[in-house]
Amino acid sequence: MTNKIHEYSTTLFKLTLLIACGCLLNISAISAGIASESHSSWMETSFEQLQELNKKDPALALDFAEKLYAKSSDKMNNADKASLFAKMALYCSFLGKFDQSQEFINTANTLSPEQKSPTAISLLLTQASIYDSLGKAKEALTLYKTAEKHAKESEDFRSLADSYSYLAGYYSMNHNDIEAIKYFNKSYHLFDQLGDELELAYLKIQMSTSYSLLYDDEQAIRYANEALEYFLKHELFFDALFAQNALAYNYLRKKSFELAKESFYKVIQLSKKANNENYTARAYLGLAKVFLNDEQNDKARYYFNKYQQYQIPVNTPHATVNDFLLLAELELNDLQLDLAENAITSAERVLLTLEKENTLSIYRRFYDLKAKLATLKDDYKTAYALQSKARKLQTNYSNTEREKVRSKLKVIFDTDQALLKNKLLEQEKQLNSIALENAQNEQWLQNLIIAIISALSLLLTYFVYRQLKTSKGLQMLANTDSLTGLSNRRFAFSQAEKYLTQAKKIKNNFAVIMFDVDFFKHVNDEYGHTAGDTVLKSLSVLACGYIRANDIIGRIGGEEFLIILPGASSEQAKVIAERIRCATEDLIVTNDNQEIKITASFGVAHLTQKEESFSEIFNNADTALYQAKEQGRNKVVAI
Ligand code: GH3
Ligand code: MG
Ligand code: MG
Repeated sequence: MTNKIHEYSTTLFKLTLLIACGCLLNISAISAGIASESHSSWMETSFEQLQELNKKDPALALDFAEKLYAKSSDKMNNADKASLFAKMALYCSFLGKFDQSQEFINTANTLSPEQKSPTAISLLLTQASIYDSLGKAKEALTLYKTAEKHAKESEDFRSLADSYSYLAGYYSMNHNDIEAIKYFNKSYHLFDQLGDELELAYLKIQMSTSYSLLYDDEQAIRYANEALEYFLKHELFFDALFAQNALAYNYLRKKSFELAKESFYKVIQLSKKANNENYTARAYLGLAKVFLNDEQNDKARYYFNKYQQYQIPVNTPHATVNDFLLLAELELNDLQLDLAENAITSAERVLLTLEKENTLSIYRRFYDLKAKLATLKDDYKTAYALQSKARKLQTNYSNTEREKVRSKLKVIFDTDQALLKNKLLEQEKQLNSIALENAQNEQWLQNLIIAIISALSLLLTYFVYRQLKTSKGLQMLANTDSLTGLSNRRFAFSQAEKYLTQAKKIKNNFAVIMFDVDFFKHVNDEYGHTAGDTVLKSLSVLACGYIRANDIIGRIGGEEFLIILPGASSEQAKVIAERIRCATEDLIVTNDNQEIKITASFGVAHLTQKEESFSEIFNNADTALYQAKEQGRNKVVAI
């Protein structure tokens, strides 16, 4: 099982990782170029167009770039040219045209782009990926590391994120999964911070591959599906194609042959859409593997033939070896021993050019097939020796070793999961603080509303108060004589009725005094009407001084006054009247330096034992007053 898994994962890498690396640099190198290098604005626009085209298909971008150079190179400065060549190198590497890519890199370097600039870093990364594809792992790593260092030093985070991606891809391809995961996560966090969803989708594809290596097929498939969904949604068919391809290989590795088949068919469809025959070829190869594993040798051969009909421009040595081994397996199944031997020999020839340390699993498969061939040739001795060799290699990939790596990876993944969780918590905290802030704002708003309502109700209270005051004032005005401020006739009479009723109820005394200024006509005539008014006011003040708080005094006519004395007997009323009379006699009213003297006549009446009405009592007082006038004025008469 372990053998198979490893075999597939190796194949998976050979077929896909190079392209994955390419895809990862896809956008970033371009946008990095735009980010911190100064190009003229028309050049920036062209770079943006390139970026868009590249998303669709690097071949389109390459074509555009070449035409752009042919048409406008005389308008470009060296930095523009270097950036353009760096991009063309990149597109070629995506397209597997490594020779051409190398040429563009060389041309770009002759233009000596500024060291540590995004262009220079992009060139390093592309160069490294070419080394990688040629199996020159050490050279590749040195360049990746230099790119990482330069990006860090120039604080170019986009290029740094790219460098991490490339390094992750490199380690993945070279079976250093621990380092790969470390760099994937570094890259993931950085792109996440840059908010670059597209790059994250690319990373998901790579992480999917890593999960494959961790035998976590579910995660691998989940990531591949997520990325695929993103690419399809944004109509990035070239990348969708890659994701679909990765997914297909995941299914294949998981031995979900039906799903794998379906996925490879989709790859074929998509590759037509994206106009990329390399993937059609790879899908045929994938289908060949599906059927080979499903022990349908005829169908496997059919698809392998179809695969071979496509001339893939440049295949990686790893892929070439695997192709020969696959062919060998097909021939062996068909008992074509000579053809099988040829294929094995061809595989060996390429195998010998590769660095040994990264080809253990291929060697194991190689020895396995050789052993199978020997068995079929009845050469059991050789077969046994070869099997032993294969087993020995297998020991190097022993389960314990693998388990050790696996558990280490598990720890790293758990840590990263925890990191992600922390990040989520952090976000949640931020959300909480926003919620708190909102709550505070709401509280503040509530307070404001309360304050406004309070202010309004205060205002309302004030208005109500004012209204009441006004109505009270109006009432006062309605009841008061405007000249003297005493009760007017109407109010004095109504009060009198009220007090009389009370007096009757509690069998109390009740008396009234009515008085009238003597010869007042003369006052007016002699001193004028205003002087007359002053006299009336003075008399009012004077009279008030002789009555109690509960008594009522009103002006009931021109110079006629009425005093109501609740609880007063006739005698008491007479005394009061007499006092007022005397005081009036003594009163000197000054007006315009003239002294005015007056007298007044008083009529007193009271509630007798009879059930009298107020008008009866009033009439009695009036009669008494009349009598006082008759008797010579300035007198008090009581009835
Ligand atoms: P008698 O002693 O009989 O009461 O004589 P009199 O002049 O006071 O009586 P009369 O009823 O003939 O005259 C009352 C006068 O009071 C007439 C009017 O001009 C005057 N008068 C009535 N109301 C007012 C007022 O509000 N202001 C002033 N200045 N005079 C008033
Ligand atoms: Mg009168
Ligand atoms: Mg009078």
